[in-house]
Order: sequence, then structure tokens, then C-alpha cells
Amino acid sequence: MTTERRPSGRKSVPFPSPESRPFFDAAHRGELLIPYCPACQDYFFYPRPFCPRCFRWEIEWRPSSGRGTLYTFAIQYQPLNPEWVDDVPYVTAVVELDEGVRLFTLLVDCDPDPEKLRCGMPVEVVFDRLSDDVTVPRFRPAEVAP
Ligand SMILES: [Zn+2]
Repeated sequence: MTTERRPSGRKSVPFPSPESRPFFDAAHRGELLIPYCPACQDYFFYPRPFCPRCFRWEIEWRPSSGRGTLYTFAIQYQPLNPEWVDDVPYVTAVVELDEGVRLFTLLVDCDPDPEKLRCGMPVEVVFDRLSDDVTVPRFRPAEVAP
């Protein structure tokens, strides 16, 4: 399965912070890592240097299945950022991973038609290489295992 995409067009790219660096480094390798608290035995998101539940600083980065469901979405017809003008309509989304955390992302490789998208539909991660240094996870509709 090829999960790396090379979107067309030049856009601004995220600038990883020290807290999010493991997330972006992993994405650049084609892996989705999410922060995990061993004390709480649970994942959390967005990346922070401490657990948002128990405030311990001993966190781990663990691989995600890369699978989840579409929690909510919006089809964008007018980009707020002119860099995205050639991409409309596109789909901004919140994905709930199987690990239970939610990520703000884009839904790609789909028809941006409200009749064809639904909350709860299965999705899987793909990786968009935005530059030589920065890759970001996106999600696309997934086939349901029989
Ligand atoms: Zn914790």
C-alpha cells in the first residue's frame, strides 16, 4: 500500500515545535506516532511534553494503527488562505483514531460531496510530503474489512 502522496502546489508548511517534533519526524518516515501516558495507560493528542490528565512528564510515543473514523468534517469552498485557492473544494476533518484520540486533518482522495461523506465512515492515514523536510498525515476513506 502506497501511503505517500505528493500534493501539487507550493504552500506554507508546518514548523514543528520541540513538542511536536517526534510526530513530524515519524510522519516523514511514513509512520503515525501519537503520545501515550504509561501512568494513565491512554493516548492523548495534541502533542505536549506532559500528560494532560495526570500532568506527569514521563510520556511515550507509540505507533498508531493509522485507522479510525471520520468524526466530523466541513467542505471548504472558499479558502481563508489564498495559497489554497486551487484546492477548493477540499475537506477539513476531525478523525477519531482507533486509539481514541482526535486529530484535525484533511480528508483526501475523496469526492468532496456531502452526499458521499458521512460521520463515522472508516478512514486510514496517508502521508503528504509537503517539502524535503516536512510530511503531514492526512486521511482518506478506507475499505471496510470483510
Ligand atoms: Zn497521564
